[in-house]
Amino acid sequence: MNRQNQNPSISRRGFLAAGSAAVIGAQAIASGSGAAGRGKSSANEPWPAVEGPFTLEPLPYAQDALAPSISANTMSFHYDKHHKGYVDRLNKMVEGKKLAEMKLEALIVETAKDPGMSGVFNPAAQAWNHTFYWKSMKPKGGGEPSGKLADKIKADLGGFEGFKKAFTDAANGQFGSGWAWLGLRDGKLEVTKTGNADTPIAHGGKPLLVIDVWEHAYYLDYQNKRAEYVAAFLEHLVNWEFAAANLG
Ligand code: FE
Repeated sequence: MNRQNQNPSISRRGFLAAGSAAVIGAQAIASGSGAAGRGKSSANEPWPAVEGPFTLEPLPYAQDALAPSISANTMSFHYDKHHKGYVDRLNKMVEGKKLAEMKLEALIVETAKDPGMSGVFNPAAQAWNHTFYWKSMKPKGGGEPSGKLADKIKADLGGFEGFKKAFTDAANGQFGSGWAWLGLRDGKLEVTKTGNADTPIAHGGKPLLVIDVWEHAYYLDYQNKRAEYVAAFLEHLVNWEFAAANLG
């Protein structure tokens, strides 16, 4: 697995430079690390720094970079409010607990086993899923994959058209909030969907690519037309290099 390409959205506090509260272009980062950066805001910090062991990683592109398929307005709400909200919630839920010392993936697997831990699992899985989603897209993405991944899609899913149909059906057919995935299980590609915060990494799956089909991902741009958002994702946004790197 290419760990770098599948890393979670939130990293241990120590990975960030002390006091860093960077704003890169339109990408606001709630780094909140280091005593100097905590508990106060400045012109470079649009919100108070996060208190807790987990932090929000920057977007891999500017907030307007995916327009017009996904507007800067949607990105702003989705990243600055929803994604950040999950990280903040997770930090609150693990405060003073052993869970705060775990790596995010391990915490997700651990809390998925116990329905009584859904208060931790949900924000943890949502935090991870969202970073994976940002990385599953890129400006001027979309189209068809090539190389080893294309061969694998041909062998396991009946070719690109087979993938496209299965992925589109999964994304449009997910009732209510959730996610549609291209992933690997037992060495074979699979297209799946999960509801709410659920994620394949909680169940032994290895994701390659994901689309967020919660309404907050598309409603400002497409209103109720989820199918148009899913089509735009496939045509203009998919980051096949990311998926190929995850395939390894
Ligand atoms: Fe979302």
